[in-house]
Amino acid sequence: MTGDTDDQVAYKTTTATEYTEDDVPLAVDPGEGTPFIVIPRGGVQEVGRSCYQLETKFGTYLVDAGLNQGDGGQFPDFRGIDEGQIDAVFLTHAHIDHVGALPVIESRNLLSPRAPIITTRPTEALASTLLKDSLKIHKEKAEKPGREQLYTDADVRKVLDRFVPRGYIRSDIQDYVPNLPEQETLTFEFGNAGHLLGSAWIAFETMGSRVVFSGDLGGRSNHLPDIEDPPKADSLFLEATYGGTENHDSASETRTEIYSDAITAARNQEPVLIPSFGVGRSQELLYIFKNRLHQLDNDTRSQIQLIYDGMAVGATNTYNQHAHGEFASESIRNLRVSNGEDQPFLPDQADAGYHIDRQDALDNERTPIIIAPSGMLAGGWAPSYLVEFADRYDHANIFLCGFQAEGTPGRQLEDAIDAEAGTIEITLPALRLGEGVPDTDDGTTVEIPTEWITRYSGLSAHGARQTLREFARMVSPEEITLVHGEPDQQRALAANLADKVETVTGIRVGGMMDATPVRPRTDDDSDSALTDRPATKLLDEAEHELTFDETTAATDMDHSDLVDRMDTLEMALRTIDAELGVARHDDTFSEAEIRSIVRDEMRSLLRDEGLID
Ligand SMILES: [Zn+2]
Repeated sequence: MTGDTDDQVAYKTTTATEYTEDDVPLAVDPGEGTPFIVIPRGGVQEVGRSCYQLETKFGTYLVDAGLNQGDGGQFPDFRGIDEGQIDAVFLTHAHIDHVGALPVIESRNLLSPRAPIITTRPTEALASTLLKDSLKIHKEKAEKPGREQLYTDADVRKVLDRFVPRGYIRSDIQDYVPNLPEQETLTFEFGNAGHLLGSAWIAFETMGSRVVFSGDLGGRSNHLPDIEDPPKADSLFLEATYGGTENHDSASETRTEIYSDAITAARNQEPVLIPSFGVGRSQELLYIFKNRLHQLDNDTRSQIQLIYDGMAVGATNTYNQHAHGEFASESIRNLRVSNGEDQPFLPDQADAGYHIDRQDALDNERTPIIIAPSGMLAGGWAPSYLVEFADRYDHANIFLCGFQAEGTPGRQLEDAIDAEAGTIEITLPALRLGEGVPDTDDGTTVEIPTEWITRYSGLSAHGARQTLREFARMVSPEEITLVHGEPDQQRALAANLADKVETVTGIRVGGMMDATPVRPRTDDDSDSALTDRPATKLLDEAEHELTFDETTAATDMDHSDLVDRMDTLEMALRTIDAELGVARHDDTFSEAEIRSIVRDEMRSLLRDEGLID
């Protein structure tokens, strides 16, 4: 469907095409006029297997290489890529849907012998934990009848050897990829995406053109810095996970809610399972308990056993090691400096699942609160715990606090709440604790009372539409391609961006394997994409730019009046500064929330001074 009217931006929907073997449309020839061609190889109208091929005159690159946890194809579609063709891989962050396919790329020899994998230091560390864990699961599954092993230990080792971990840098590709022509260049830049420790948006620039990949955008965490402003670009590949949601529920309220619900349940001796992404979400949850458990009286505290399991264990170590400097929020940095805390993500009384007898933990006096991957109950320890819960308890609690992709057990539980069913029968990819992995993909079928399930929507690591739109406005591209989102989310976002992002003339939705050209913008506006970054705009709630009434501010005011006003402003700024200091020590606020407090204060200040309406 192409909607193309005079006063509306055209947006193009391409249905995901199933290409046949000889039909993969890869005749691409980037060069003058078309410096980049981007071919999505996964992560188009889906949250999973993100992978985008970036063709340039100076090599073939991949942005991310993830796998799919839900239904649909498991790996990205690599057809048409020759052996050794890929000159480097760039990773936005270490979630499995962005890095899980790296060993397959290795086993298929798609990377050139010296191709580096360029990313941030925390992403390297987390990806290493993730890929080793993923290999273990892959090998276990491959032993089952009818399954084959697609990659080996050696492939994972080779992948890890290729990593070139850095900070949030801007650099020339020549420094990383051998044998490129020296005169002309391709530049890349990583900026904080506020989604996961080490997460980044990535900008590429060559031959007078720039393209930005948003990666997954966050801005909602209390342990990460806010999203860094991206540069302007001709084209933007934007994630759309929550494109249909203008704003999420408050993250800080949700944190308090999860904590108090868990403690109330534990006081009633009802066990709690919080299925959780091992990387990121688990640490966010542990940080909630870290900050609050010490407020409980000793009796209550000793009744609770907080368990974190599976990949959350290794990832928590990595978080404790790497969450500092440019990668951590100010509250974490303060905790380290003022309290000498070197394990900000580990509550004193948390037990790693590997160090305890898990079955005993479910039977003993203390009530377990369990944080275990996977967040969608699609693998890991969470499904095993749920099988045990179903068998042992009359009443228990399942807290769903992450995104549940289509086709996962987590989504089935979520749907059961909406259907208001009394119970739900669900097949989990697990056996009982101690019985290993299931023999077939069928796993164990259990019946779960729907009243056990609670959904918390405020903790998403993904920004809602407002965040996506602000990001798009800063990039001010001519073209936006929506990726990483289900079709209805993308449509909602496309319509909104078409309406509200002035620079945009076209928005693409869908288009798996569609070669998308990126061209320098056509307008002869002197405000080209490659000018310096814009100053961050202050936007009010109604999305209008704050405008200063210049007549009042400069002309109608005599000098002494101006001096008075400057004094008032200075005092007010000092007050804001002090409040900011307090807020920064309060770990319940995220950087984004602190910013919005400051923004509100400044607005009311400017309003008081009659500088804005
Ligand atoms: Zn992610």
